[in-house]
Amino acid sequence: MTRFNPIDGPLSELAPGLLTIDLPALAENWQLLDRMSGEAECAAVVKADAYGIGLLQASAALRDAGARTFFVATTAEAVALRQKFSDVTIYVLNGLQPGKSSVFLEHELCPVLNSLEEIEEWAYDGNSAPAALHIDTGMNRLGLREEEAGALADDAKQVSCLRLNLIMSHLACADTPSSLMNGCQLSRFRDAAGLFEGVPRSLSNSAGIFNGSAFHCDLVRPGIALYGGAALKSHEDDCPMKPVVTVTAAILQIRDVKAHESVGYGAAETVEAPHKIAVVSAGYADGFLRSAGSTTAEKGASAYVGGKHAPLIGRVSMDMIAIDVTEVDGLKRGDRVELFGPNASINRLASNAGTISYEFLTGLGHRYRRTYKS
Ligand SMILES: *Cc1c(COP(=O)(O)O)cnc(C)c1O
Repeated sequence: MTRFNPIDGPLSELAPGLLTIDLPALAENWQLLDRMSGEAECAAVVKADAYGIGLLQASAALRDAGARTFFVATTAEAVALRQKFSDVTIYVLNGLQPGKSSVFLEHELCPVLNSLEEIEEWAYDGNSAPAALHIDTGMNRLGLREEEAGALADDAKQVSCLRLNLIMSHLACADTPSSLMNGCQLSRFRDAAGLFEGVPRSLSNSAGIFNGSAFHCDLVRPGIALYGGAALKSHEDDCPMKPVVTVTAAILQIRDVKAHESVGYGAAETVEAPHKIAVVSAGYADGFLRSAGSTTAEKGASAYVGGKHAPLIGRVSMDMIAIDVTEVDGLKRGDRVELFGPNASINRLASNAGTISYEFLTGLGHRYRRTYKS
């Protein structure tokens, strides 16, 4: 039995939430990062369904803008992308799944080899298909330790079997350019990559691009900045990227709240004066995180409606939030509220909820109707 999927098909007409994806803005963001990266090739990271906005739609727009190299996390994402585009290079960041070399060969996918074990499995006799090598320079997530990279470089037999088309590492603190970790990782990366002469190098995610040209190497791997998210901490208040995703939801009811009454679960927020609130049809089941909610002690995030910012009042429920529309005139049931988008920054919302835009984007639920602006 297939799952009930309200995104597709005629039922989507009835969805109270609307997710609008601005593909020209996505393309412009890629072009800005491409210009910033100078001589380096600008790839595109489209893992996790292109950060929630739709793998195939996003990739098509990025390819039209000029991107030719794509990074995904999983083999399944890579195969889906390959089935749509025959002429792009696809790297699988999470590496070679055990026993799945043949899938990579069949679909011409490049594994990012993250351990000596993966290298051994990949570099059997006669496999001359290209792959990337990941060297860990301080993240301690995936990638060869530097001493392992040294041993590999010395093993002429194994190196001669490997056809490396990229050598990469990943920055842990690039969102904070003043962090000493960045320069330290750069210098460790240069040393390790130097062991593999002539192989193109890649170090930077979105944030790395904003750390200056020393970090650009031969290829950059932006993800979040393409989608309008803050790459640097300082972008949370002032982001140079265009917003790509707008989420709106319908007002279910407008009601008056009297002074000293509370709103929502746990009676978490009490108003001092009379308020007009709008109850809006989106909640944590739609990925509107509960931590964005408001209490009497700690104010929450704001939505945007009728040309004004409208702060949340009370907790986020599964299917609803309440916002303060005391100052907004002329609203009625069915009107739409912007939860985030050009007027309500996703970066501010995320920081208000104690998280990052990545989590809001990849957590958007399945109840929205999606439309793509092209
Ligand atoms: C996710 C990821 C990126 C993209 O990171 P952003 O911060 O979204 O730009 C780049 N490289 C690696 C290895 C990643 O896992």
